[in-house]
Amino acid sequence: MPIHPSQRLLNHRRTKIVATLGPSSTSAAVIGRLIEAGVNVFRLNFSHGTQEGHREVYQTVRAEAERLKKGVAILADLCGPKIRVGMFAGGSVMLVKGEEVTVTTRQVEGGPGLIPSQYEPLARDVRPGQKILLDDGNLSLEVVSVAGTEVSCLVIDGGLLKNKKGMNMPRAKLSVKALTEKDISDARFALGLGVDFLALSFVRQANDILELREIIHEEKSSCAIIAKIEMPEALGNIEKILGVADGIMVARGDLGVELPLEQLPPIQDQLVNMARRFQKPVIVATQMLESMIENARPTRAEVTDISTAVRSGADAVMLSAETAAGKHPVETVLMMDAVLRETEAWLYERDQFRRLTPLDLRLNDKNIEFAVGQATAVLARDLSVRGIIVSTKSGHSAAVVSSFRPPSPIVVITPDERVSRFIMLLWGAYPLTKPNEDYENMRETAQRIAVEADLVRENGTVLVLRGFNPNPAKNMPGLIVVPVQR
Ligand code: PEP
Repeated sequence: MPIHPSQRLLNHRRTKIVATLGPSSTSAAVIGRLIEAGVNVFRLNFSHGTQEGHREVYQTVRAEAERLKKGVAILADLCGPKIRVGMFAGGSVMLVKGEEVTVTTRQVEGGPGLIPSQYEPLARDVRPGQKILLDDGNLSLEVVSVAGTEVSCLVIDGGLLKNKKGMNMPRAKLSVKALTEKDISDARFALGLGVDFLALSFVRQANDILELREIIHEEKSSCAIIAKIEMPEALGNIEKILGVADGIMVARGDLGVELPLEQLPPIQDQLVNMARRFQKPVIVATQMLESMIENARPTRAEVTDISTAVRSGADAVMLSAETAAGKHPVETVLMMDAVLRETEAWLYERDQFRRLTPLDLRLNDKNIEFAVGQATAVLARDLSVRGIIVSTKSGHSAAVVSSFRPPSPIVVITPDERVSRFIMLLWGAYPLTKPNEDYENMRETAQRIAVEADLVRENGTVLVLRGFNPNPAKNMPGLIVVPVQR
């Protein structure tokens, strides 16, 4: 059989695109083009910029989304306790393999043999024999001895160390909290703006999420929390973290420094599966089209990486510096969109959207929601339905159906604009905000929605799922097969 180079593309892209905004992309003109190119969620990175700067960008995104009549969500990424080296006389210092250096927490300027850091508990947290990685792991030290504020080290991998580069201590048990004073201030500010997601960096345990949830409650918001998984400790606590977070991000940048790089692909796969088992969205992040920061075309390895994320069943893929500080922000999103669509078309053709297998599941997953979600996906496949219409107040039913990766697009009807924006992150799900939908006359309603959501290019059927109710006495989900006409 010949190999056809291109598949018939799907009308609705299933995998969502998260794009970070920064100096290359904060003008209204570029944000508008990014929305048209297919961005579903914009990320404001609070590791950079000022609160006032983020307010301006936030308002521009909302205005452009309104102008273009497109639903897009906004995620504020809190920088967390990123540990960094301090400043050097002349801006940098050369580390030479085999030489001794001291890392100090005294407030001094660094120079040959001396690396300052403002991470006050450093000397208490590290032990002789442990590694200190610098600049995303490009440089490394081994701790020889610790005394007071001074940590003596041997340079293992040398090179030029510049001001403010990151510091990771993979085997140390860090005493710093996940939510810093700056994060608390940024979180309150972002909630005041009305962001849809808060992402928390360097999460290690469920309690980190609960602390942020407390602030969200204090601010009378229902904003969703994305736990960034970038610390080995979080992997050990992942079930508890997924139990309380609203979604996770596989933050491969720091995770790839904290762990041996070769462990990253299987961990990414496990995190994607685990999130789906908990029916929570998962974003795969970092370096997906890194070379496009400079170049107009990506590497073969990068497009294959995106395709791998699609095959593993991720809800979303993320662009960082590519859209924030790169030379080709719009072209990068167009490229990502094209790669996602081509892989999805190929998987669709062979009925291979990544399903949850018995291996991914536990016995106690088998509740009503699980059974109905799975039945919806099976029925959608067996009847080749044009779409699945889900009505939901909280978005939960949409997350359940989406986690089974059914072959047909999921149109989510909700009365709440905020729930609509949460849906933007869910695999295959497209929200329509409808304050007063008629659920009595389901045939007419389904027909109207199917046309509005562009599900019917020919006559066919859609499935309608009436949502799950958290109150067991009212939990009577219903699945209806409705014929629709073009
Ligand atoms: C990462 O480490 O992969 C990540 C997404 O975090 P940040 O970009 O905030 O460093």
